[in-house]
Amino acid sequence: MEVPFFRPSITEAEIEEVIACLRSGWLTTGPRVRQFETAFAQAVGTQYAVAVNSCTAALHLAVEALGLRPGQVVLVPTYTFAATAEVVRYLGAIPLLVDCDPLTFNLDLNDAAAKLRHLREGKLPIDRRAEVVGIIPVHVAGLMLDMDEVDDFARQYGLWVVEDGAHAFPAAYWSIRLGRWRRAGQQTAAVTCFSFYANKTITTGEGGMAVTDNPNLANRIRQMSLHGLSQDAWGRYNGNGPWDYQILAPGYKYNLTDLAAAIGIHQLPRAEELRKRRESLAYRYREELAGLEAVELPPTAPDRVHAWHLFIIRINPGKSPLNRNELIAALRRSGVGCSVHWRPLHLHPYYRDKLGWQPEHLPVATAVWERVLSLPLYPDMTPEEQDFVISRLRSLLATQSSLRAAA
Ligand SMILES: *Cc1c(COP(=O)(O)O)cnc(C)c1O
Repeated sequence: MEVPFFRPSITEAEIEEVIACLRSGWLTTGPRVRQFETAFAQAVGTQYAVAVNSCTAALHLAVEALGLRPGQVVLVPTYTFAATAEVVRYLGAIPLLVDCDPLTFNLDLNDAAAKLRHLREGKLPIDRRAEVVGIIPVHVAGLMLDMDEVDDFARQYGLWVVEDGAHAFPAAYWSIRLGRWRRAGQQTAAVTCFSFYANKTITTGEGGMAVTDNPNLANRIRQMSLHGLSQDAWGRYNGNGPWDYQILAPGYKYNLTDLAAAIGIHQLPRAEELRKRRESLAYRYREELAGLEAVELPPTAPDRVHAWHLFIIRINPGKSPLNRNELIAALRRSGVGCSVHWRPLHLHPYYRDKLGWQPEHLPVATAVWERVLSLPLYPDMTPEEQDFVISRLRSLLATQSSLRAAA
């Protein structure tokens, strides 16, 4: 048996809509993108949604719209994907890397405060006088940070917040301040960015969305997503808009196609059902692996609706016969696709050699990443596929330890 790390869940409805789009003669940004944006804004509970061709594009446009300038500093978790920090570099600004919580892997606000002190004390590889303007939290695996706490932190230091929600659709946390659930993207942040990459919680193949309640930010993001033109793709491409347009800024080419939105239109209403299926698979992993002392399981919390984009286990170094790398190699050999989220940014050559970050700056992420491994988790995973992963894991970890005990 072979179990892939991920398989997208595509129904006939998505397929039929793509075919209908092809037959319609309208392939690029048009009515299906508008429909997807409207439905997405409603699902998140926000005023504006701008569809773009990746979450990376959405993050780039968000920090651009907020006026990020060269030499300014943005707090970014080291425990994230390349995109979160590179968009800061696109604008010549400087990511200030922040350590993570050892259990959730989410950005640690206490460390963020410490890092701001260390910056002023000249202990970081950044000019101590640099102006700090923003923070980009990530909801790792889909278990949300408390955005009220992020908001308090940002207000205290006078920062804007861009929420990297690439893992967090749909996700929520119980807001004590509101006395109700607050969804990822439901505004505390200036802008929230979502990903519809092939293996994210819903997909359009490649795609992303920027949501905001601020009309000025929404306008700037939309304008810059299409060459900085005075009218968006709707007006320009539907044939009825005015033929003349003004170039207002040197924008980008980040618009989503109707072909991609055709998939999104039918993924969106399935999002909660897909989340529930991932959740029950995650609970089953938690039950079946609870007895394995070589493995520590990902946290859950009653005040969180977990998107379960990833199921990240930590190998218990004292109690596992195999280290993380050995376990991945063995799982892959036995037909189980797995992955690592992630090697922290500061342990990549660019951030280490070019920007000067050292392992000692970010000790929690430095230590914990060596122990992490993401197991296969996707809505259409069959019980047999999950049984296979569980039994492979059990036999690899148990066989080895009994061998060791016998030796
Ligand atoms: C996948 C991912 C992104 C980028 O998403 P794309 O749509 O592929 O650009 C950004 N941030 C995080 C945390 C991600 O996992």
